[in-house]
Amino acid sequence: MSITGLIDSPGAWSGRGLLVVSHDALLPQNCVKCGRPTNEPLLRRKFSWHPEWYVVLIFVGLLPYIIMAMVASKRMVVHVPLCSRHLERYKALRLAAIFLLLGSIPEMIAAGKWLPEDFQGVGIFAGFLALLAGLVCLSIYGAVLRPKYIDDNFGFFRNVNRDFLSLLPPCPPNIRPRYGAGIFQRAD
Ligand SMILES: [Zn+2]
Repeated sequence: MSITGLIDSPGAWSGRGLLVVSHDALLPQNCVKCGRPTNEPLLRRKFSWHPEWYVVLIFVGLLPYIIMAMVASKRMVVHVPLCSRHLERYKALRLAAIFLLLGSIPEMIAAGKWLPEDFQGVGIFAGFLALLAGLVCLSIYGAVLRPKYIDDNFGFFRNVNRDFLSLLPPCPPNIRPRYGAGIFQRAD
């Protein structure tokens, strides 16, 4: 099983409990969440990452932080293998997030406009709860893999099943984050 994984996964390695991938990596046909073999279509996910210190820009202002994060974040597309159970779960989360986020704002506006005055507060609060629920769904959906570090060549991801990682060859010593992530600082 591990031999198959080694042969079928160019550009993918494991290191310190992280999945390490190049931008054109082909992952083994096993679910990243449970390690089971799968023939399901790959989930295409775009990830972005920026150094954690960028968040101090929030103290300068939300807009400088958003602009800096948009301009300077490193991005990577990963085609994520998932079993049918996990693929359905993440698709449902994506659908719920879209439905709740897109529905909550018009619901709050409609509640404020058309509901009888006594019920307006409840109606707007319900929309606010839907907005929060949508953000939670979006966050769980996004956590299928969590980027720890991304640069122009490689991405380092956590939230990956151990059995899945065991299919991959160890990360070569020359592949290291340049700075910031602090994940490979200990000696091998
Ligand atoms: Zn699975």
